Amino acid sequence: MDNLRKIANIYYHALPEEDKLKVSHFMTTMDKDGSGKADLVEFKQYLKEQGYDNYADSDFFKKLDINRDKRLDTMEMLTLYYSILSGRPFCRRCGDFIMAEYFVCVECFEKCSAPIYLCSRCYKDRKYRHSHGINETPLFLDNYAMLEYNRVSALTKKKRRKLQKSESKASFTITTFSTSSSLVSSSKASSNITSELKEVGAVAFKTFETALGLANLKLRLTALGIGAGCTIM
Ligand SMILES: [Zn+2]
Ligand SMILES: [Zn+2]
Repeated sequence: MDNLRKIANIYYHALPEEDKLKVSHFMTTMDKDGSGKADLVEFKQYLKEQGYDNYADSDFFKKLDINRDKRLDTMEMLTLYYSILSGRPFCRRCGDFIMAEYFVCVECFEKCSAPIYLCSRCYKDRKYRHSHGINETPLFLDNYAMLEYNRVSALTKKKRRKLQKSESKASFTITTFSTSSSLVSSSKASSNITSELKEVGAVAFKTFETALGLANLKLRLTALGIGAGCTIM
């Protein structure tokens, strides 16, 4: 929880004043008796009122309550605020709040409003059953690999849109100059585009394949001319 606390604090200090007021409002609304701290009853009541029922959990409260005085002080409430807004998940198998690394089903993550998250212990011990079809083993990725997967997928989609645009331009040329020679050249262009699309598809597939193949994937992306690096100052 210390790590979450640190991150929450960093974000808070970077917030503009009007957003800091929102955080204060969150705290004062939860702290119904105005004591400056929120006890378990206030915590549960407030979260349920706000529709965050899954966070209204006694074990989660205990984890937030680092100094164990059975009440959440400002920093502890700030950690709660950050946990909710950043969508920190609970393990679907054991119900524990996941403070650091998790594994998530890629298909659920992309298509479902409530993806299957597992803590590393439940994932490692295979203490779950989950499938998207009789013979299908869903792919789970950890949070870092998932981030990379999303990044590469976005780049791949961008590349594909670019290729499709050039493909439609090529079709337009065929229509305009409808001669046998232009048809031949268009079929060559189309075949080049198809092979390039296949290459992009291979990159996407590589991401699916395994989180451990990411270094190789990066090399292939560079070869495709994707990812001429962003810089940070
Ligand atoms: Zn678990
Ligand atoms: Zn799934």
